Amino acid sequence: MKTLRSFVQGGWHQADTGFATLHNPCTEEPIAQASSAGIDFGAALAFARDRGGSALRAMTFAERGALLGAMSKSLYEKRDELIELSSLNTGVTRKDAKFDLDGATFTLSYYAKLGESLGAKHWFAEDEGAQLGRSPRFWGRHLRLPRRGVAVHINAFNFPAWGLAEKAACAILAGMPVISKPATSSAWVTERCAEILVDSGALPEGVLSLICGSTGDLLSRLGEQDVFAFTGSADTALKLRGLPNLLASSTRVNIEADSLNAAVLAPGIDRDSETWDLFVQDVTREIMQKTGQKCTAVRRIFVPRDEADEVQEALCERLGSAVVGDPHESSVTMGPLATEGQLRDAEAGVEKLAAEAAIVHGTGKRVDGRGAAPGKGWFFAPTLLRVNDGGAADVVHRHEVFGPVSTICPYEGGVESAAAGVGAAGGTLVTSLYVDGPQALTGYLSAGGATSGRLYVGSEKVAAQLPGSGTTLPAMLHGGPGRAGGGEELGGLSGLGLYQQRVAVTGDRALLDRAGD
Ligand code: NAP
Repeated sequence: MKTLRSFVQGGWHQADTGFATLHNPCTEEPIAQASSAGIDFGAALAFARDRGGSALRAMTFAERGALLGAMSKSLYEKRDELIELSSLNTGVTRKDAKFDLDGATFTLSYYAKLGESLGAKHWFAEDEGAQLGRSPRFWGRHLRLPRRGVAVHINAFNFPAWGLAEKAACAILAGMPVISKPATSSAWVTERCAEILVDSGALPEGVLSLICGSTGDLLSRLGEQDVFAFTGSADTALKLRGLPNLLASSTRVNIEADSLNAAVLAPGIDRDSETWDLFVQDVTREIMQKTGQKCTAVRRIFVPRDEADEVQEALCERLGSAVVGDPHESSVTMGPLATEGQLRDAEAGVEKLAAEAAIVHGTGKRVDGRGAAPGKGWFFAPTLLRVNDGGAADVVHRHEVFGPVSTICPYEGGVESAAAGVGAAGGTLVTSLYVDGPQALTGYLSAGGATSGRLYVGSEKVAAQLPGSGTTLPAMLHGGPGRAGGGEELGGLSGLGLYQQRVAVTGDRALLDRAGD
């Protein structure tokens, strides 16, 4: 069985005790083990801060960008191998593996280009500045300087490559070294990505470290200049964000957590229009892609009450075409859930939702998968539920089922009442809104725009170009208010902000202008 290693203090560390086991989700067979036992987290942090931090701060944005470009290229060169490993480790189909891996290389290359465009500077001023005294001589402006600590990243199991890359891209470009910890169940893919990056020789020492297994006392050692960015469940986030040292040192913390994302069909969309087709196509994809194990998946579908039957029929027809099974079978379109725990949680979650919603497609229970041994594998078919009144529902707006599960929530009146339903989840990463004119968009923005981190507007003219609401683009913000964690990642240049200290510099303008950057 494969033993995963961690990469700390510029070398590979292999534990010999305390292992957690990783399984093949299609066969349930153990495939690898991971443990971080024996790592000296204090020394790992010091090495990253000192060596990695100094190396990055000495580099210009263009040089850091070139480093990200090299990272993207080296991962892309091993794409086929990584796709195969993703299937083994997490049970994803080829298409779903690409979604994760191509997302990783694309995000790295996006930030590589951004670095190139920022050029030969080490930091930048975020504004022109302002006159502060009687004469223009007394001047002030805000600089964005790299924080002098380490960025510790903890990621969820569902994006083992993208999770590593999207956080690392922003931190490295800003000038901060990274210690990344993947979720244990999918850590083999991340470990291999790290191995490829280390072997490429592009990374200066200390810039990227990897922890496979538990974080030990790493988090309780973080201090004033460090950054802690977490992606995972709201329950784990709640435990970690309140660690006494993080509070006492004002360590910068960013949380990306659960999200009960919504799709909203505005009233009056013609059944034969491209907007309607786009809505059905997007929602189906967002339920099934990565077996619904996406933080941006659509969990609630708000539709005008008099169109709910038609929507239900169209969705059931499409969901019925899913072939659930081992992705090595060519006809399979949806793989298993990643772990037995995820399967049990999904089953229990549907049972909870079914207390107030009717199951209109699927069973909410484990199924046998095509190409897999009967009774083996954590397979789960798409399940669609429907509540009578989206506004009056309760559990549907509070409980995230992390699988191919979604609920139709009929609403009365205009998009404003759908916005109230969307808001009942207390903050989401993304809401998709399908409209055919500006009025409904304006109505939605005023009534509920602020309850989501991203609003994906689907309409006829852009239908052919839209990637789907679940696709996170590096140029656009990722994160959402409230239960979605309140964090912000990516979003082009603003994604660097988490890793930079804004410093207001005031004084003689002539002097300020001559200071190097
Ligand atoms: P999870 O159980 O909360 O785990 C997330 C990460 O936290 C894993 O790396 C896990 O490591 C680690 N962890 C757990 N307890 C810890 C502790 N006490 N100290 C340090 N690290 C700890 O979540 P998950 O099951 O991996 O992911 C599913 C959840 O993530 C869903 O709720 C989903 O909505 C959310 N998610 C959100 C986003 C977003 O961007 N908002 C993206 C993806 C997923 P181990 O695996 O070793 O326990």
